[in-house]
Amino acid sequence: MEGDPEWSAEVRARLLAWFAAEKRALPWREDRDPYRILVSEVMLVQTTVAAVISYFDRFVREFPDFATLAAADEERVLKAWEGLGYYRRARQLHAAARAIVSEHGGRMPRDPAAVRALPGVGRYMAGAILSQAFDLPEPIVEANSRRVLARLVAEAGDLATAKAQARLWDVAARLVPPRDAGDFNQSLMELGALVCTPRSPKCLICPVASLCEARRLGIEGEIPRAAARAAPRAVVEACAVAVDGGRILMVRRAGPGLWAGFWEFPTIHREGPDPAGRAVDPPVGLEEGVERLTGVPISSGKMVQSLTYGVTRYRVRLDAFAAAAGPRRGASAEPVPGPGMSAAAWVPWDRLGELTLSAAGRRIVAAIRAEPSAWGIARP
Ligand code: SF4
Repeated sequence: MEGDPEWSAEVRARLLAWFAAEKRALPWREDRDPYRILVSEVMLVQTTVAAVISYFDRFVREFPDFATLAAADEERVLKAWEGLGYYRRARQLHAAARAIVSEHGGRMPRDPAAVRALPGVGRYMAGAILSQAFDLPEPIVEANSRRVLARLVAEAGDLATAKAQARLWDVAARLVPPRDAGDFNQSLMELGALVCTPRSPKCLICPVASLCEARRLGIEGEIPRAAARAAPRAVVEACAVAVDGGRILMVRRAGPGLWAGFWEFPTIHREGPDPAGRAVDPPVGLEEGVERLTGVPISSGKMVQSLTYGVTRYRVRLDAFAAAAGPRRGASAEPVPGPGMSAAAWVPWDRLGELTLSAAGRRIVAAIRAEPSAWGIARP
């Protein structure tokens, strides 16, 4: 049982043997390169292994080491991250690479305090890097291992509480072996991903079934306890797809904040909370808002697309309107970036995909490509 050295030794031995036989071949498991481990760990936050693999391969091809990533400009890094979402992670990874180059000579430090001090690297990620890259006996608790540990010791309380978290970190610290710590930590996560899954854990094929307290009590299906989730808050925004011949008016947002560094169709806030910091006082309509953001007067037309997407705890509805340049200063007005924007430009409509765009922006680009005439664009 928990706290019993024999129980711990048996859990370790069985999980290590199971992992050696059953682990998936993943690109970041090919070696113990701390750079690849850090990139994979940052990508895996909030994202599944299946979704990460292709992004990981492309990212490490473009930025093969800390020095290359540190030297890259932010827009290139965001472009390479495009589609993975949670872009704050990309910025933090970029900042971590820069800190490793400037403060640690381009090598991942081995000191836990120094690793934890890197941007975006918390206790879990530091444990993953130190155990997998250097085989240091540092524990980990993340989504998969948290569930496995909670079931192993039948922790039936709310796992978000400080008390439950402290208990699980304590269990993890007592289980992690002095050698093969990296494999052991990965075995916990792998068991959570493949066997001890959130719903319907496959206890019949689990290597630690006879050591599992939740299984013994028949409560594995009740752990982790479902947490009450607050309903996402509704936000309404509007953007203009302003056309001038074959060109479209685009802006790039300045930092800091949500979407900093991204290009987008000029967008205003309409209703609800304002996670992207778009609201102005007093609120303005779309035409006035676009002129404020770009210096270009437009005439707004009909709404062509309305899409919704989630970002942090918000549910955003974005209404996209067709619009034309003019009429007051004419179609040739050159854009000038307004408040909160770092750039504004006319971009040929068939080159919009080259910009770094949010997922919502890419959906609008796909709709423009599918039916340019709906947006007032004449095919060449
Ligand atoms: S016996 Fe079942 S609940 Fe316990 S660790 Fe294995 S899969 Fe998870």
